Amino acid sequence: MAGVTLSVARRLDRCTVLGPGARAVIWVQGCPLRCRGCVAAETLPFEGGTVHTVDELADWLSGLPDIEGVTLSGGEPFGQAEALSALLDHVRTRRPEFTAMAYSGFRYEVLLRGGPERLALLRRLDLLVDGPYVSSARHGLRWRGSSNQRLVALTERYAQVGTEPDTSAGVEMTVEADGSLSWAGVPPTPGFRAGLEERLAARGFVLRAEAGRES
Ligand code: SF4
Repeated sequence: MAGVTLSVARRLDRCTVLGPGARAVIWVQGCPLRCRGCVAAETLPFEGGTVHTVDELADWLSGLPDIEGVTLSGGEPFGQAEALSALLDHVRTRRPEFTAMAYSGFRYEVLLRGGPERLALLRRLDLLVDGPYVSSARHGLRWRGSSNQRLVALTERYAQVGTEPDTSAGVEMTVEADGSLSWAGVPPTPGFRAGLEERLAARGFVLRAEAGRES
């Protein structure tokens, strides 16, 4: 595993609006898709982001208290499937019950045909949100940006999610150590980010250009 790296747009120690329970979140850098209305434009180029070793990220995740797993967002997590599989394996040597959820702009059926690295990551996930963000589709759903996206339970661990209320989990605001504001979550309405930035700017706040998630 030595030398395996992941290009990361942002990471968060704790979040309760991007998947079940309290979770760390990793937004990877780079996505090959270009969904109209994507809220995470800064994560789309494959250039940029911060390169971390898998060992470093595994140490970070393993040491976080009071979380049950990690959510992999982006960007497109399946664009860095090999490194993410290695990361989950590494964390689970120390925390065997650590759960993994991922977003993907690709449909589950496409990922199944996507080659060994993507299959290997799928096998390590408990929950998948699949499909591109479609701005004209219905919004305000639990953990998803548009109604074409599905919550696919891949293990028994989160098999119950399909029976729970399907309403928006909202977004969380965080005041960072340097005093800046950032947010995480799936916007309940199209244009959420622009509206939020506008309202905050009117009050003298500047929102950091960070990744939320619409897919
Ligand atoms: S919504 Fe998701 S899949 Fe679509 S372009 Fe943005 S990051 Fe990529």
